[in-house]
Amino acid sequence: MSQLSGKVALVTGASRGIGAAIAKRLAQDGATVAITYASSPGKAEEVVKAIEAAGGQALAIQADSGDPAAVKRAVASTAEKFGRLDILVNNAGLAHMAPIGEFPEEQFERLLAVNVRGVFSATREAVQHMGDGGRIIMIGSINGDFVPFIGGSVYALTKAAISGFTRGLARDLGSRGITVNNLQPGPVDTDLNPAGGPNAAGLKAMMALQRFGQPSEIAALVSLLAGPEGGYITGASLNIDGGFSA
Ligand code: NDP
Repeated sequence: MSQLSGKVALVTGASRGIGAAIAKRLAQDGATVAITYASSPGKAEEVVKAIEAAGGQALAIQADSGDPAAVKRAVASTAEKFGRLDILVNNAGLAHMAPIGEFPEEQFERLLAVNVRGVFSATREAVQHMGDGGRIIMIGSINGDFVPFIGGSVYALTKAAISGFTRGLARDLGSRGITVNNLQPGPVDTDLNPAGGPNAAGLKAMMALQRFGQPSEIAALVSLLAGPEGGYITGASLNIDGGFSA
C-alpha cells in the first residue's frame, strides 16, 4: 500500500512549477489531490490529466490566493467533494523584486495578499476540516532567512512571515497531532526563476552545488513530511537550497 493511500491533499498554486510537482508526487504516493490555480486553467487540467493517467484522482479549482473568499471555498469544496482533508500544501506565491525606494505600493499589497494572507486563509479553513494527524506544509523561501542580493526585501518579508506563522501554528495544532512545517527552497528551475534566466549565473555562483534545484526535489521532501515518517517534525523551517545558505 502506498504511504498516502486514503489521504486527501490540497496543493495551492499547482498548475505549474513546484506546486505541480508536489501534486503529482502526492498522487504517486497514493493521495487524492485537489489543486488550485489563478489564471492557467489549461495547465491545471494538464496536471489533473497526468495524475489520472497514472491511475490517481485529482481536481483543479480556480481560486486566487489573494481572494480570501475564493480560498475558503476551495478548501471547503475539497473536503466536501472527497469527504476529508489530511494534507494542505501552501505553495502559491509570487515574487516582485525592486529596491525599496522604487517598490510599488500595489505590488507590496499583492505580495502580502497572496504570500501571507492567502496562507492564513487556506490554513484557517483547512483546520476546520482536518482530522487528527493532519499535515500542513508551507513553501516559504530561503530568502526568508537570507537575502544576498538587492531588491528582495518585500519578498523576504513575506517569506519570513511564513516561518513565524509555522512556529505558532505548530503550537496551536500540536495537541491534535497536526504537524506544520515550512520548506525554504533556494533557486528552483520554474517559470518564476528559470535556470536559463538573466539572474541564473549569479545565483548558481552562490550555491555549494552550483545548480538550480528541480521541482521534483522539493516534492520529495514534501512527500517525506506528508507521510507517516515525517510525524515527529513540526514547527521547523527546513532549508532545501543546494547550499545557497551554507
Ligand atoms: P511559478 O510561478 O512557476 O508557479 C506558480 C504557481 O502558483 C502557478 O501554478 C500559478 O498558477 C500559481 N499561482 C500564482 N499566483 C497565484 C494566486 N494568486 N493564486 C493561486 N495560485 C497562484 O512559481 P514556483 O513554482 O517557482 O513557486 C512556487 C512557490 O515556491 C512560491 O511560493 C515561491 O515563492 C516559492 N519558491 C520558489 C523558488 C524558485 O526558485 N522557483 C525558490 C523559493 C521559493 P497560474 O498558472 O494560474 O498562474
